[in-house]
Amino acid sequence: MFLLVRYVLIVGVSSLTIVSAHTALPLSQMALIGAALASNVLLGQIAPEQFFGWWVQGPVLLADTVWIALVLLSAGFGQQFFLFYFIELFLAAISESLALLAVGAVLIGIASIALGNDGSLSAATLIRIPFFFATAVFYGYVVDMAKQQRHVSLQRELWTNRLEQEVRARTCELERQGAEVRRLYDEVRVADRIKSDFVANMSHELRTPIHVILGYVDLALEDPHVPPDSELCRFLHHLQDRARALQRLVENVLAYANFERGQAAMTPRRFAMQAVMDDLGALCADLPLPAGVRVRLQAPPGLELTTDYDRLYSVLSNLLLNAVKFTPTGEVDVQARAAVSGIEISVHDTGIGISEDELPRIFDPFRQVDGSSTRPFGGIGLGLAIVLRNVKLLGGHLEVESELGKGSKFRVVVPRNLGGGRPSETGVAERAA
Ligand code: ADP
Repeated sequence: MFLLVRYVLIVGVSSLTIVSAHTALPLSQMALIGAALASNVLLGQIAPEQFFGWWVQGPVLLADTVWIALVLLSAGFGQQFFLFYFIELFLAAISESLALLAVGAVLIGIASIALGNDGSLSAATLIRIPFFFATAVFYGYVVDMAKQQRHVSLQRELWTNRLEQEVRARTCELERQGAEVRRLYDEVRVADRIKSDFVANMSHELRTPIHVILGYVDLALEDPHVPPDSELCRFLHHLQDRARALQRLVENVLAYANFERGQAAMTPRRFAMQAVMDDLGALCADLPLPAGVRVRLQAPPGLELTTDYDRLYSVLSNLLLNAVKFTPTGEVDVQARAAVSGIEISVHDTGIGISEDELPRIFDPFRQVDGSSTRPFGGIGLGLAIVLRNVKLLGGHLEVESELGKGSKFRVVVPRNLGGGRPSETGVAERAA
């Protein structure tokens, strides 16, 4: 736009000069006009963001003022000069700000004075000066507004471009990280799978020697040459206890590894609840129960169910062993009864209890309320994780109530017929007593 107006100006000045002179232009004037045209071509090469700087516009305005004055004055123009100055002013206005306009206005004022017929300050000349100043300020104001808007939109465009670039770069980075995470995840899954297989195989391999140890210990204990009150008998019983504890641990590790490997076969069969209680009783009989702990196991006669026996036994034995473990003195009460949604078995103890804070986390694998190496109770934190998984597999649910220092109550509800009930979402609901 600036260059266009400037071309019009150059052509206007040239035509006016030619028309008024009625002859060919003198060489000096043609050189001036040629220089103005050439400067316009040069100005066209300047980058837009630098083009509107005062260091470009200022010299252009000054040079234009000089050459227009020279051309017009030498052609004998007086009053028309103001017209071109006015255009020059407009030119300055569309290109720069108030500061440059003020310079233009001052130049115009000086020119007005210089162009008085006799070179003195006439009334008409004096009137023109404020008029040019007012016009300059008006154009300056309009142009400043336009410039600001252009600046804002340029800035916005710049930011949008930058933002787009940034978003593109981030998206690339995220995609790269996503691919990396997927790769690592796959690696971890493979490693996890290898670990689970290893743990399962190890546990399996450990089972056999433990069976052998227990078999020989049983044989030794049955030997009539080993008196029941002898030290050897005491050692053998101790060995038997430890071997059984190790056997339970290995069974739990194997069960958990099988869950992780997605191997959870179910073999439902019909049995009486009393049969489970009897087996739990036998388990307790084998335990080195502390003297101050009393265990009670109760099931109504004739209470039968069809489910996976081994899994139900695993659930109840884990809960019972925990109850016994965490009850230094007091009672452990296991009761079964018929419920609306199946069979409810509660394992209640008057032991150390669990705090409200810890309650939601006790079903996490390898989680122990007291995880310190100096804790008084053994275990590896897998029992309840296995309990929860088995209860879910049996289509049942589990509730726990506990109060620190007072004891805990785990309540398991399983359907009478496996497959007849609807498994709960999480399989657990906990409540602080
Ligand atoms: P652990 O092998 O440690 O017994 P579990 O998964 O069976 O692992 O139990 C997790 C934790 O929950 C235990 O370490 C214990 O802190 C707490 N807990 C479980 N049962 C009881 C209970 N009957 N009384 C008190 N705390 C219990």
